[in-house]
Amino acid sequence: MAADMAAQPRSDELLNQSPPYVDVDLYASDQPLRGAVAGNGGEGAAAALSAFGKHWGSADMFELGRQANENPPELKTLDAKGYRRDFIEFHPAYHDLMAASVAAGLQASTWRDDATPASAPAQVTRGARFYMAAQVETGHLCPITMTRAAVAALAVEPSLVAKLMPKIVSRRYDDHFRPWWEKTGITLGMGMTEKQGGTDVRANRTRAQPIAEGYAVNGDKWFMSAPMCDAFLVLAQAPGGLTCVLMPRFRPGGSVNGLNFQRLKDKLGNRSNASSEVEFADAFAWRVGEEGRGVRTIINMVQLTRLDCAIASAGIMRMALAQALHHARYRSVFQKRLSDQPMMRAVLADMALDVEAATALVMRLARSFDLAVADPLEAARARLLTPAVKYWVCKTAPGFIYEAMECLGGNGYVEESLLPRLYREAPVNAIWEGSGNVMCLDVLRALARDRDAARAVLDALASEAADLPGAREAADFVERAFCAQDVEARARAGVGRLALLAAAAALRSSAPPDVAELFARTRLSAHHDAIYGTDDLGAGESALLERALPPT
Ligand SMILES: Cc1cc2nc3c(=O)[nH]c(=O)nc-3n(C[C@H](O)[C@H](O)[C@H](O)COP(=O)(O)OP(=O)(O)OC[C@H]3O[C@@H](n4cnc5c(N)ncnc54)[C@H](O)[C@@H]3O)c2cc1C
Repeated sequence: MAADMAAQPRSDELLNQSPPYVDVDLYASDQPLRGAVAGNGGEGAAAALSAFGKHWGSADMFELGRQANENPPELKTLDAKGYRRDFIEFHPAYHDLMAASVAAGLQASTWRDDATPASAPAQVTRGARFYMAAQVETGHLCPITMTRAAVAALAVEPSLVAKLMPKIVSRRYDDHFRPWWEKTGITLGMGMTEKQGGTDVRANRTRAQPIAEGYAVNGDKWFMSAPMCDAFLVLAQAPGGLTCVLMPRFRPGGSVNGLNFQRLKDKLGNRSNASSEVEFADAFAWRVGEEGRGVRTIINMVQLTRLDCAIASAGIMRMALAQALHHARYRSVFQKRLSDQPMMRAVLADMALDVEAATALVMRLARSFDLAVADPLEAARARLLTPAVKYWVCKTAPGFIYEAMECLGGNGYVEESLLPRLYREAPVNAIWEGSGNVMCLDVLRALARDRDAARAVLDALASEAADLPGAREAADFVERAFCAQDVEARARAGVGRLALLAAAAALRSSAPPDVAELFARTRLSAHHDAIYGTDDLGAGESALLERALPPT
């Protein structure tokens, strides 16, 4: 009897379907990530990152992600008697995800409680956690990234920092609709975009009038995400010009502040996250930084949210690749596993190479943020490369995820496979916090402001990647593109190449030499086809696939 049963094929073999990709250690199973963390000074955190990876890779966490997205938030504008409430109701799964991210410090672990940077490699290890959390659920990370990034802007106001930091760095998430001082922990949002302009914030019409203890703000914002946050950094025209203010949900006296939410956006993806249209009616706010220096102040925040956009997109790519590879290892077509079919191997390995690059690139960039305080070259590197990395990684992700979806065949197009959600999620990282063209203009701005620093960064990249094919030519191309007469028209080409060179340099320092060499050979010294699977990766193919996901 026992022998008969052993001879029976398992039911998943009968169905020729892959088992669910759950209960995985998102850290231990990801060799490129482990290498990138170790190569950037985070080796000592390996055990803690593995514990985080196991927790976030559990079936329960994937289930929370599903529930939070299938039950999107609702705006409750008025109560039964017609009084304004402006309350956002979320599914409990969303709060559970928030609680898990806050417990792990994703909203603030890169800061001490006086708003000075935590010790290195805080950005790298927090970045690795953010990368793993993004693989499971990305929408809730919007208030998480804004909270940690807002600290960079708040730092110019020591009195606000002293009041708020203990609540910001707290690991106890509190979802109550209460004044911030009564809560165990708080989250922060940001409102810049108005109907007449998101990129061009100088066109903002919202006004901030000085009053006792602060400002009264009137106007509106066309996009303001995570409206249940406890306070928002808002740009408004004060008498001295465009100014950054911090607007709490409750006035200092304890009454609800004048934030009237008009509606929530009906979005392509990012559905667990609420994004509002809001009107300010004499809303109370504190000034952050000097009047007229609003953009200067808030840009410190935006630089960090841009880093997180790139990390999250790299994470989403990673999950799409893992799903595709996992499926291909179980699914047979014409009596052979998909993962053994030559053409499928070429596609998956080519995709794995882009995930290697994106992962090494974002972790190396996080390292620059860690080192920037004490090292001017690293500060220049963070300044120049953040928009370039956001541009390349976030723009690569949507097409990449589509290809991963196709690897799963029809299953990939069906909601339960996770791929549709990843696919819908991906474009927003390229749009918000500055869209593609705006990222390229920002690289040009960094160049114009300090050409010597930019040249030093380019020289460093060229020398780090010096033994890789096409590195010198790529550096020359970037230099020419940025000196051209029609520099704006050529900026996409220059910035794209700059990101690829930075990726090759990042791989050179944290991945095996063969991986860096393959990336440079196929992306720098030759034209890489926009469709995956057209390069001959030779003997490197198997190594890439095994590094991406250990065979079971
Ligand atoms: C889901 C979601 C949530 C959001 N949440 C927030 C939020 O919480 N807070 C907030 O303030 N904003 C938020 N935004 C707004 C977002 O930051 C803006 O939509 C974005 O910055 C682009 O601004 P815009 O929509 O006004 O487009 P525009 O500024 O009109 O830009 C349109 C296009 O033109 C391009 N462009 C602009 N200038 C140039 C130029 N000089 N040369 C060439 N091309 C150019 C841009 O790259 C873009 O592709 C959110 C957006 C989305 C989709």
